[in-house]
Amino acid sequence: MRFARRCLLPLAAAALFAACESQPPAGLVIYSARNEQLLQPILDRYAQETGRQARFLTDKEAALVERLAAEGASSPADLLITVDAGNLWQAAERGLLQPVESAVLARNIPAHLRDPQNRWFGLSVRARTVVYAPARVPPAGLSTYEALAEPAWKGRLCLRTSKKVYNQSLVAMLIAAHGEARAEAIVRGWVANLAVPPFANDNEVMEAIVAGRCDAGLVNTYYYGRLKREKPDLPLALFWPNQGAAGGDGRGVHVNVSGAGVTRHAPHAAEARHFLEWLSGDAAQGLFASLNLEYPANPAVAPDPAVAAWGSFRQDLINVSKAGSLQADAVRLMDRAGYQ
Ligand code: FE
Repeated sequence: MRFARRCLLPLAAAALFAACESQPPAGLVIYSARNEQLLQPILDRYAQETGRQARFLTDKEAALVERLAAEGASSPADLLITVDAGNLWQAAERGLLQPVESAVLARNIPAHLRDPQNRWFGLSVRARTVVYAPARVPPAGLSTYEALAEPAWKGRLCLRTSKKVYNQSLVAMLIAAHGEARAEAIVRGWVANLAVPPFANDNEVMEAIVAGRCDAGLVNTYYYGRLKREKPDLPLALFWPNQGAAGGDGRGVHVNVSGAGVTRHAPHAAEARHFLEWLSGDAAQGLFASLNLEYPANPAVAPDPAVAAWGSFRQDLINVSKAGSLQADAVRLMDRAGYQ
């Protein structure tokens, strides 16, 4: 009975589960906010190594979370894969994920990159760091996220919109590091230093710097990597901020994750857990990170050579779940500060 209901899915999912008239779907079902180009090679490798098949449905993060919530106990999904700890935190808070106690995951994924309650695990790391025009900014002119709020940067900064979860997570971490008052002063400083209104995406930030409209901005590392791969002569460089003495402004570069959790009502919970463990291991980590020019979450796995070429840096070791728990505060703060 339960199974028949699972077959009553809207169009996209109905196509996905076309074979489900009489049989339960065999193998894992993944709801993924990450795209097919990233996921398919991973699943091919998984099938190769384990003989197990997995299918997936891709959509926007919000749509997948709503679908999971609406489907409830009759959801066919075993796993949710998405980006940003803020999103993973929201899914967990809505009760859509179940804790997974696993010695393998505890060993492979550093504590700051997973949910303290083990409902989701970071699988790749992206740094949200400074990108700048070396022709106009000597590296000595850069130091911290906080310093970009100083008057020396007046009219020289470009930022992406505050509506993007990446910036909400970054500001959440500023609140965690400094408290609301100083965090707000920093964000007000950034806004005062903007050369042009915030952009819709990270690529536009980089294009504006290339065009000379501003001198520096904040982007996720893989966007820089993609653009650099397209344009090897790209006149931009990455800078790793907050690398001074630990504590305060020396806390390290703000990192975030893409990650996954086992859904609360996973029909194949044991296999989903095995898949998560496999994703945290050597073969999957190398592939998962390099396909999108990210860093492996598992520190025993080396990044892609193109990524390694950007140099090493110290990460902020604060638990990335703070990006979720402080997200609402961050959104209000950015609103007060006039960051659009
Ligand atoms: Fe992105």
